[in-house]
Amino acid sequence: MDSQKPYAYRFSEGRYTVCIANRARVEEAIAALCRDLGIRSASVCGIGAVDEAVLRFYDPATKRYVDRRFEEQMEIAALTGNVSEMDGNVYLHLHATFGRADYTAVAGHLLSARINGAGEIFVTPFDAAAPRRYDPVTGLNIYDFR
Ligand code: FE
Repeated sequence: MDSQKPYAYRFSEGRYTVCIANRARVEEAIAALCRDLGIRSASVCGIGAVDEAVLRFYDPATKRYVDRRFEEQMEIAALTGNVSEMDGNVYLHLHATFGRADYTAVAGHLLSARINGAGEIFVTPFDAAAPRRYDPVTGLNIYDFR
């Protein structure tokens, strides 16, 4: 793996198989891959393990975010999400389910996570761009396909 980059990849059959470096941050590695390769729209899925993660819950009634940090070894039981663009920048929307040592799970919108072990991700790029805009009704940055 290139020591300068938080990821290494192979491209085959229209998608990238990505190895995120141990101790790298999941969201930073995926964003760097997309910037480096010019990926403007994609789906993301993956598995692996982390030792620190910040999940976010959005309450549509109050339009407030509640963030919670978990500092423990957890399996990435499922990472899913998409790559889009907002204001010309790579925009990630990631959700994750993490398995704890006692086999319970925590889940939510993934803000940040640090790999501790493996980080094995698939990124499937799409030809069409996927712009976003802020939607004042929901308080969210939604797809702008008008
Ligand atoms: Fe979300």
